[in-house]
Amino acid sequence: MKYETVVGLEIHVELKTQSKMFCACSTAFGSEPNSQCCPICLGIPGALPTINKKAVELAIKTGLALNCKISEYNTMDRKNYFYPDLPKAYQTTQQYHPICRDGYLDINIDGRKKRVGITRIHLEEDAGKLIHDSENSLSLIDYNRAGVPLIEIVTEPHIESPEEAVAFLEELRNILIYLDVSDCKMQEGSLRCDVNLSIRPKGQTSLGTRTEMKNLNSFRAVQRAIKNEAERQQNILESGGEILQETRRWDDLKGQSVAMREKQEADDYRYFQDPDLVPFIIDNQMVEKIKNNMPELPAQKRERFVSEYGLPEYDSRILTSSRELADFFEASVKLYDEMKGSKESKTVSNWLMGDLMRLTKELGVELGDLKLTPSLLVQLLKLIDQGVISSPIAKEVFDEMCQSGQEPDKIVEKKGLRQISDIDQLKEIVREVIQENPKTIADYKAGKKKAFGHLVGQTMKKTKGKANPQLVNKLLQDEINIFQ
Ligand code: ADP
Ligand code: MG
Ligand code: ZN
Repeated sequence: MKYETVVGLEIHVELKTQSKMFCACSTAFGSEPNSQCCPICLGIPGALPTINKKAVELAIKTGLALNCKISEYNTMDRKNYFYPDLPKAYQTTQQYHPICRDGYLDINIDGRKKRVGITRIHLEEDAGKLIHDSENSLSLIDYNRAGVPLIEIVTEPHIESPEEAVAFLEELRNILIYLDVSDCKMQEGSLRCDVNLSIRPKGQTSLGTRTEMKNLNSFRAVQRAIKNEAERQQNILESGGEILQETRRWDDLKGQSVAMREKQEADDYRYFQDPDLVPFIIDNQMVEKIKNNMPELPAQKRERFVSEYGLPEYDSRILTSSRELADFFEASVKLYDEMKGSKESKTVSNWLMGDLMRLTKELGVELGDLKLTPSLLVQLLKLIDQGVISSPIAKEVFDEMCQSGQEPDKIVEKKGLRQISDIDQLKEIVREVIQENPKTIADYKAGKKKAFGHLVGQTMKKTKGKANPQLVNKLLQDEINIFQ
């Protein structure tokens, strides 16, 4: 390819506050339309806004986690435009003095570290929501979302591929969830991402003309949209055309974007400082206080899981990929260690990375949708340790336990899954297997070590996986040596 892709992201994040940015209305999602509004968020002339302190704190928290400088002097500014979802006819935002600047986030791409610059983070408010009823040719408006606190995170144009964009967004979302800044539910619109994209001939240092894509509802959509837009721009340039700076709307069903409007310039918005909101000062003391109360971030947790639990980096990366999974891991290890009196972190990790991941994928659910608890997992491990069940059976019990929430020993009793450790009973089965497989025995005696594994497999199969594997091994050895 002669061209390279350049991407900068603008990410809107709804903050986890109880009340809106400038009034006391609730931010709860999914309530009766227009039930959470007041003269301030409806923009009634004369109503006076006040700033939500919690929103300011959450923005600072995010800025610190993204290695930003926190601005001492802050203003709120008006961005004027007319649209039905914006009752005030301006959005209150921070154009001139954003709360955070000049940060970065390191991401991991195929084992390589990549730094993406964060240009700025600013506070603003969300707009209302239009609901288009095409059947009745109506548009309805719900102002519950109007005035919900947002931060907008703007990156430098440092992202070079769809994979990097997704890795960046995943790491960012993970951090925001760890910080408890937002629940980051893309399907509820609490995390939204716009993609700015241009291409340029390889080796050129100046940037090409960019387009901005909106309406990206999932990370997969971001990935597809970047690929598609880079190709579209390349086709235009190769056929001698020119890229228009415009805003485009991504249609995920059609897998293509369509032009929405020409890019608005700053002049069109007639920005000016909001005279109803005084500039606010963030002093060092406030920043230090937040700094001292920062939770452990994913990158720190990743390092600690390696040093404290002796896990491979690969395990650590997967286990910390969500706060929920990381907490689950730590709670399980703690319980298991208390029971055994020894560190068994890797056993727990293997179950979570192996069987849990397999099951959530198979069922298309997340850990939180399952009924698995650290206590249930540890009870299962205990049954394996005590030889009550074999490991293949344990997988079966695990699946059932995750879905029903029933205790593993109950499942074992109910389904008769107890491991067979009765020597006489097993000896009989082993003898049958030997009789039925003369060729395999001959192979084994001729030195083919693999043949032995086949005999073990046959025995396990006959007992539906319930035989004690160590015992089967031993009995097979004995029987072959004595009788064959
Ligand atoms: P606006 O506020 O008008 O959208 P900004 O200058 O704030 O414009 O840029 C928005 C985003 O676009 C940033 O993430 C920036 O990195 C990205 N960007 C700017 N120019 C380009 C370009 N030529 N190609 C790709 N991305 C760009
Ligand atoms: Mg923009
Ligand atoms: Zn209100």
